Amino acid sequence: MDITFVLGDITDQNTDAIVNAANNSLLGGGGVDGAIHKKAGPLLLEECRKLKGCATGSAKITKAYALRSKYIIHAVGPVYKDGFNGESVLLASAYKRSIELAIEHNLKSISFPAISAGAYGYPVKEAALIALGVALKAKEQNVPLDELRFVLFNDEVYNTFKLAYKELKEGIFNGTTP
Ligand code: ADP
Repeated sequence: MDITFVLGDITDQNTDAIVNAANNSLLGGGGVDGAIHKKAGPLLLEECRKLKGCATGSAKITKAYALRSKYIIHAVGPVYKDGFNGESVLLASAYKRSIELAIEHNLKSISFPAISAGAYGYPVKEAALIALGVALKAKEQNVPLDELRFVLFNDEVYNTFKLAYKELKEGIFNGTTP
């Protein structure tokens, strides 16, 4: 499995699934969520209504309608308070559950945004270390995916993810990441 990084918009990705940084209602919002609903079209909201929400740290899957991907995995990351409210476990869980759903649906490629690192206030470097920790573990476990792509929306987030990846690969944070 390749772990790749793209500076760009999640709604443009051609992977089998793209991941939405959704909220508990699954009924749309700002940021990634707003962009996905706008581009996928109103049928997405109709399908989301039937899902009856999603717990924080979990994810649900829908079709992708007008988007290039086949599926959308709606993952709910935590709102960041101070780091002492289980945020890291919940954020890791949102990524893990998304990967599990992709595998359960026989998908081969998946694109992730920086879940929780926008309106939900997660410090970007910490969010990156958690996201990449999960990705590297999946790679280590030889999950049946070809590509796990991170799609970062601006230079700062993109560079932070790339640096975090380098640090994790070089073992700088060994033993200190979740
Ligand atoms: P959350 O509520 O989980 O924090 P947001 O959507 O507010 O989610 O932000 C998550 C990250 O996604 C932020 O880094 C934000 O800059 C970025 N982002 C916003 N729009 C897009 C998009 N269209 N494609 C990819 N990333 C995006």
